[in-house]
Amino acid sequence: MAPVIRERLLSEGLRPEQVENFQQATLRTRELREQIRERAHRLQWRVLDALQARGLSEVHLLGSTGYGYGDTGRELLDEVYADLFGCEAALVRLQFVSGTHAIACGLFGNLRAGDELVSVSGEPYDTLSTVIGQKAPTPGSLIDWGVSYRQLELVDGSLDYQGMRSFLRPDTKMVFLQRSRGYAWRKSLSIEQIGKAIEVIREIAPQCVVMVDNCYGELVEEREPTHVGADLVAGSLIKNLGGTLAATGGYLAGTRAAVDAAAYRLTAPGIGGEQGASLGFSRSMLQGLFQAPIVVGHALEGACWAACFMELEGLEVSPRWEDHRSDIVQAIRLGSPEAQAAFCRGVQRSGPVDSKATPEAWVQPGYRDPILMAGGTFIAGSSLEMSADCPVRPPFIAYLQGGVSLGHVQLGVVRGLVSLQNLTK
Ligand SMILES: *Cc1c(COP(=O)(O)O)cnc(C)c1O
Repeated sequence: MAPVIRERLLSEGLRPEQVENFQQATLRTRELREQIRERAHRLQWRVLDALQARGLSEVHLLGSTGYGYGDTGRELLDEVYADLFGCEAALVRLQFVSGTHAIACGLFGNLRAGDELVSVSGEPYDTLSTVIGQKAPTPGSLIDWGVSYRQLELVDGSLDYQGMRSFLRPDTKMVFLQRSRGYAWRKSLSIEQIGKAIEVIREIAPQCVVMVDNCYGELVEEREPTHVGADLVAGSLIKNLGGTLAATGGYLAGTRAAVDAAAYRLTAPGIGGEQGASLGFSRSMLQGLFQAPIVVGHALEGACWAACFMELEGLEVSPRWEDHRSDIVQAIRLGSPEAQAAFCRGVQRSGPVDSKATPEAWVQPGYRDPILMAGGTFIAGSSLEMSADCPVRPPFIAYLQGGVSLGHVQLGVVRGLVSLQNLTK
């Protein structure tokens, strides 16, 4: 370790033996991080190939206003996403206000009164409980519109393939899976597991629409859920695929029929994806996509290192550093609301923006529990830039994700840890 780095870490408040752990974590994870970088490079070649094959040119970066007719940049973006996901169609829009909105359009667009929706990965992400309406009567939810819902729980955090056979019905209209861990102490689903689940689902309900909540999962593995049979995936552009440059937005990709149905929900039946001004934002969405594999790679390197370092520091982490990853999220069990607050303060102090702010927990729309969020990011709430979220509920976990460089994640984790230590002093 270079003496300047050592000095910096000591001045940040690490004890000498912790600086050793910092170094150990860097050495131990080296080979795995190298593999992560190589995969990121291969994925960036794939993005580049798609951009070139679709003939990206300067005119596509200009954008449109008003209805957005003939917006070739927007159309090219849709085509490139469809190519990357290996599917017929995609809808990439700044008019999606969030990942939840994109997922909701996929669900509402493809379900009708009397249809059944089944989640086979247990409880969906927090914000989907008001979309589905299964926890409490919610006006405008799927259940309010006459869709029925059931969920098959995970068994020891894994998919219950055998259970699916008896749980699904031949006329189940839509089956839902969540790839990432969400705010839960569970593993993310690998593409292989998702593929295996889809085979089982097709045996029982061959006609159903299989939708995957792909948030935080994009570009983490070589393949996406659509490469193993998913009909529809959705996510947020202020997460992985926006590459930290997209200012807002979301996407859906899948079969032409499933994407069109969602587009009719986003705008209006008959209009779908043919309107929607890009207002000059296609440039950052395209450039963000080009950079996304690299940023996701850095975020994964950071998560891998953080898992190793925090474990050396005696904290329980999920996944462990050498585990297979299918999302960019690193969960760290902190055990108390005070520890969550301390860790978040440290991460907040490491951001380029609002580093002097103190994160406070609040109940955001769609969430049931207060959430503490540390994120000194250029794009508000952008979790591909480094951020830490803590739903304030047992077992009091911090979910750390993102980071445009390993060095930045390291600083964030070090400050989080020192802040935790000051708590017990
Ligand atoms: C972030 C996330 C969402 C919803 O995203 P928003 O953009 O915050 O609405 C849905 N599912 C999972 C697993 C997520 O991580």
